[in-house]
Amino acid sequence: MKIRASYLTGYADCSRRTFLDMFYSEAEEFGYEFRRPVHHVGAAIGTASHRGIATDLQGIKDGKLITRSDAEAIGIEKYRALSAERIGYDSTSQNANVAEKHIRRILAKYYHDIHPGAKPLHVEKEFKVKYKGFLIVGHPDLIETDFKVVDFKTGARKTPYQAQLGMYAKILEIISKEKCGGLTVAHIPRKKDMTNPVLKNYIYNVEASINHAISLVDSIINHYNTFIETEEPSHILANPMSYLCSRKWCKAYGTDFCELTKE
Ligand code: SF4
Repeated sequence: MKIRASYLTGYADCSRRTFLDMFYSEAEEFGYEFRRPVHHVGAAIGTASHRGIATDLQGIKDGKLITRSDAEAIGIEKYRALSAERIGYDSTSQNANVAEKHIRRILAKYYHDIHPGAKPLHVEKEFKVKYKGFLIVGHPDLIETDFKVVDFKTGARKTPYQAQLGMYAKILEIISKEKCGGLTVAHIPRKKDMTNPVLKNYIYNVEASINHAISLVDSIINHYNTFIETEEPSHILANPMSYLCSRKWCKAYGTDFCELTKE
């Protein structure tokens, strides 16, 4: 069984929704039926922008620089591929044209503020460690030459990512036997008006983030073992106050997996 570090942020929001994302096939095997939610435009913009950023960083590392317009084309191509799934738009990115404009603006900001000083050691490298019978997997966006972990975020809201980055730090320390040099979230939020996008860097405390990550992973493992034993999800904390708690965004909404939201 695999636990991806990137799921830890969602786990702190609504554990039950994220548990389902992680262990969907087990839940289906137990006979639960789910909605087919749309692919959130914010997630699609994030994935597409990351594709452009990662290609640029890999180019810096390999000495094969790509231009900003190359990175934009790569990001847009990725977005169009993701659009093969049903995209759910929101009031910030209302349609495909706006979403593509946002990707271009995010990449322009990245090129202006981050690209010139980037010192990539690893770009989206997969790290894996075994823990209590599970495989913990992380793909940090960027590890710099001084072992700093940097993750790029483009969400409309400021969200705390300590758990995800703390897990990256822990995995990195186990594998490389080096101390993590710092944890940074570089946030370029998508907004309705992207004329002048902003970059904010959030620096996290490494030890506190690692401790938070480990306590969440321990909870996930307990939840998983109890679910496999009982076939029942009610012991997994649900958060109906989550902004993703709706029939549009959550596949468990109104189903037997989340009776709280049944009408
Ligand atoms: S329906 Fe709401 S409370 Fe239930 S799992 Fe989904 S997000 Fe969480």
